[in-house]
Amino acid sequence: MKDLLRDLRAIIEHERTLHGDLLPLSPTPNDADEPTSEPASEPAATAVADDSPNDAASSSQEADTPSSTPSSDDAPADAPMPNRDLFGNQVDPTQDPSLPPWKRVDSLVPDDAPYKDAETLEEVEQYLADTVLVPIDEDRENPVFGVGDPEADLVIIGEAPGRDEDKEGEPFVGRAGQLLDKILDAINFEREEVYITNILKSRPPRNRNPKAEEIDAHLPVLYKQIALIQPKIILAVGKVAGNTLLDRSSSLSNLRDQEHDFYGIPLMVTYHPAALLRNSQWKRPTWEDVKLLRTRYDQLTDET
Ligand code: URA
Repeated sequence: MKDLLRDLRAIIEHERTLHGDLLPLSPTPNDADEPTSEPASEPAATAVADDSPNDAASSSQEADTPSSTPSSDDAPADAPMPNRDLFGNQVDPTQDPSLPPWKRVDSLVPDDAPYKDAETLEEVEQYLADTVLVPIDEDRENPVFGVGDPEADLVIIGEAPGRDEDKEGEPFVGRAGQLLDKILDAINFEREEVYITNILKSRPPRNRNPKAEEIDAHLPVLYKQIALIQPKIILAVGKVAGNTLLDRSSSLSNLRDQEHDFYGIPLMVTYHPAALLRNSQWKRPTWEDVKLLRTRYDQLTDET
């Protein structure tokens, strides 16, 4: 019997040499287990890939290959791997698009911040009121935390409180604030339905620009506010707010140029209302910006 099989193989090999692989020989079970299938599959795959109608079949084979690998780890083939990149390395949570934006923003709050685990804006506000983080906090008349709907879909962020805001403990209540209210009204927002706040929560003396250490001290408070509010879109008014949030140092026209991504939250930048009080030629471009803001807001809030 063995001899017969050997002879049969010899005949087949002979035929192969003469005619190539034309014979539709189905492999014996033993053949299938043998490594001969490896080299054979390679040219076959190449031939299929060259043949455009079959591209899909070949690419789906390729696509199957990596997904079958994790199954040996008991992971379902298509399961997402949160906080891990393709190679299994930990991903910076702020850069992890599989996380909801509010979690990405929340991860910017230092772990040792006493308000890290705060569940309400009131808790964070109370902490701010009780704490001197930088010297301007000592000199303020009132902390200016923020005002509006704690579940607003739109958060508006300015630079820092001025004299009127410092007196009242509320952002944007002076002349610039009144103009902001008019702008909001023009795009059909009530002040109460949005949330308004600033990068700095205390007034810098003589309204000077914020110092880096003041921004460093107060920005995590803003991150926590955003994480708790979970807005669908953010409007930064002015260059300081825009550049601080986006960690850039761009001109306002460059910042206005496009919609930005703030850890998964769309962010737009426009002129600061105080700048509009000084330069009325910027009112028209601001109007264009806020009309676009309203359109984006409607799109984003309609989606859910
Ligand atoms: N300017 C700001 O940036 N914020 C205010 O609250 C008031 C004026």
